[in-house]
Amino acid sequence: MLPYGRQSIDESDISAVVDVLRGDWLTQGPTVENFEHAVRDYVGARHAVAFSSGTAALHGAAWAAGLGPGKRVFTPSLTFMATVNAVRYVGAEPCLVDIDERSFNIDLALIPSNAEAVIPVHFAGLPVDLENSAWLSRPKVIIEDASHALGAHTQAGPVGNCAHSEMTCFSFHPVKPITTGEGGMVTTNDSELAERLRLFRSHGIVRKPELGAWYYEISDVGFNYRMTDIQAALGLSQISRLDTFVRRRNEIAREYRKAIDSLTSFQSPPEASAGALHGYHLFVIRTERRRELFDFLRKSGLGVQVHYIPAHHHPVSTGIEILPSGLETTDKVYSEIISIPVFPGMGDRDVQKVISLLREYDSQN
Ligand SMILES: *Cc1c(COP(=O)(O)O)cnc(C)c1O
Repeated sequence: MLPYGRQSIDESDISAVVDVLRGDWLTQGPTVENFEHAVRDYVGARHAVAFSSGTAALHGAAWAAGLGPGKRVFTPSLTFMATVNAVRYVGAEPCLVDIDERSFNIDLALIPSNAEAVIPVHFAGLPVDLENSAWLSRPKVIIEDASHALGAHTQAGPVGNCAHSEMTCFSFHPVKPITTGEGGMVTTNDSELAERLRLFRSHGIVRKPELGAWYYEISDVGFNYRMTDIQAALGLSQISRLDTFVRRRNEIAREYRKAIDSLTSFQSPPEASAGALHGYHLFVIRTERRRELFDFLRKSGLGVQVHYIPAHHHPVSTGIEILPSGLETTDKVYSEIISIPVFPGMGDRDVQKVISLLREYDSQN
């Protein structure tokens, strides 16, 4: 089975992890700090705070931003539920917003002018354009869910530099741009937010050595959301190959686009606008008879998937607020999408196999 996404692990990754296992630190230690610095420097932000998962990173960001009961937070419905759950974890209220068909990203122009907070998702690795967006007015808090988009760029530079946001969250799950097994990171340019993120990640502990070397205080209900040095070693080794990974993903996407252009049953996904770089975490094709194509590709050995069943379709979302403009585009796009394999370790033969299956299906339909 050729999966829709897969990690790329090489010998240098393995020896980096083994080195940590032979050392003194297993849980959060110097390697986590080194990995934070590497991500911070890669994206060009002032601070980076590592977490045990992308979900924990989103939870931390929502808390650090002071979101809570009585606050509405706008998110797309076409996302993984973790985006919406981060709002619920802190007791704030999610409000679901439709996507723009030209990008599959949240349609920022729909968000009301009095909005306090929004969590845009860089869907499939195509960055939301926060710089040229048609905001009615910029919400006070913008938290980017960049789980798909480490290595992608907007006109304002690498995703994660927080040029137009308070914080950006990344995931290092194995199918994401780089992996730590499980892991996440928040980047920010605000030192106060960075401090709050660190507090939240480790039980809310504040050390006060002036009152004794042992002394610490806890004034907030924090979590244990720490990353381990074992995971960070893998991340640190992986980030040195991130640009190569993104380049290969873009190469595969170009091959797919070229092939799909000559076929009638499918449409290629939205492209990056001038000056931006797509991360191609996913390559999402559209087709009118999704179920048939999905079954055909699965039977033919492709581990295709659908990203995502929109948040409002799940039973857990009963009663969730939806912006009055509705979710028509989300529902239409959802009914037509399939994610086909794209990951850096795909060889040319894998790519050609996918293309010939698409051709085969197209010629029969
Ligand atoms: C993967 C993902 C997350 C959650 O990340 P984990 O590291 O799996 O917890 C959040 N949002 C989106 C859009 C994702 O794709």
